[in-house]
Amino acid sequence: MDPWTELVRFDACPGDPHRPTSTPIYQTATFERPDASCEGGYDYTRSGNPTRSVLEGQLARLEGAAHALAYASGMAALSGLVRILRAGDHVVAGTDLYGGTHRLLGQILPRLGVAVTHAPATDPVAFAAAIRPGTTKLALIETPSNPLQEVADIRRLAEIARAGGARLAVDNSLLSPWLQKPLAHGADVVVHSATKALCGHGDVTGGVLATNDAALAEELAFFRNAEGSALAPFESWLLLRGVKTLGLRVERQQETARRVATWLASRAASASASARRVARVHYVGLPHHPGRAIHERQAAGPGSVISFETGSVEASRALIAALELFTCAVSFGSITSTVSLPCAMSHASVPAGQRVLPEDIVRLSIGIESADDLIADLSSALASLPRARMAL
Ligand SMILES: *Cc1c(COP(=O)(O)O)cnc(C)c1O
Repeated sequence: MDPWTELVRFDACPGDPHRPTSTPIYQTATFERPDASCEGGYDYTRSGNPTRSVLEGQLARLEGAAHALAYASGMAALSGLVRILRAGDHVVAGTDLYGGTHRLLGQILPRLGVAVTHAPATDPVAFAAAIRPGTTKLALIETPSNPLQEVADIRRLAEIARAGGARLAVDNSLLSPWLQKPLAHGADVVVHSATKALCGHGDVTGGVLATNDAALAEELAFFRNAEGSALAPFESWLLLRGVKTLGLRVERQQETARRVATWLASRAASASASARRVARVHYVGLPHHPGRAIHERQAAGPGSVISFETGSVEASRALIAALELFTCAVSFGSITSTVSLPCAMSHASVPAGQRVLPEDIVRLSIGIESADDLIADLSSALASLPRARMAL
């Protein structure tokens, strides 16, 4: 089936005799059993719930995976993934990662006896050198990274991980499966913060792990049930509803993001004093992006997150304060546009020594508003800033 059809055409209620066209919210903790056993069928919502099962079927289909598991948040999904590790194991992770991922890897895994090395995912030679064959069990990357938009070659890193006996996990939150399906390029596991593009409405926190490895899926399900980190029925329903419009949202947001990024890049190239407030634009959809060729081999588009530098943290803060349409908020992928200062917000938990981000970097997440209105807002906010004091 064509992906547009797949988004909305699926069995919304397997086995339901009333055939509702929208999946019911099975808002129940327990299910009556036909006899005094828990074998087969649903018994308890922590272990399994029909609303969540329909959602997981859709998520698996979208990622081209045989199995998908929905979690209470993206971090719950990542925590579920690292549960496969044991004391003495080693992880190689990219350098430009979500702040919460840095915190999990840097502050929780060492307590469990798991060592972590960060290596640039953009540099396969350096990444390969960080792998300890037989000891490294997991490699974890984001591509494009957020907010720097550095591109990693999924197929190459999957080969490197496999050669060292490790699994490659790709956090695909930034693009969503509408634009990139890492399993098709050799990744073993896909991770999502479903809070972002998959939900798309900024009203749910959720996470996903998807894989084609049946043994791994079984192990993940065991930990999720044992630790109680699965997504609740109402959240599953909201997420299922959001996913139906994934294509419409992502295409529209991306089209607008291309226009905004092109406009910002033209401001960066221009010579007027306020234009100099846009110093460098990071967006994989721009023509001279260094990762563009690799990105185009593995993804269908650049997505809707853009970042840029202004030259100073004060200018970035003043710009954010002057914007009216862009809400100052963490997260991305929602239908409403947001702006943030990652070093003070989403990435504040990255230890200063490991931070690869410029302190003044501003991140935009483009929603479904009119591109003209968004550009007008950016234009007047930039014009309102005091003239650049720094040298040219
Ligand atoms: C937000 C985010 C997470 C964490 O997800 P939550 O749903 O906030 O727990 C993980 N990875 C990336 C890339 C994210 O953007």
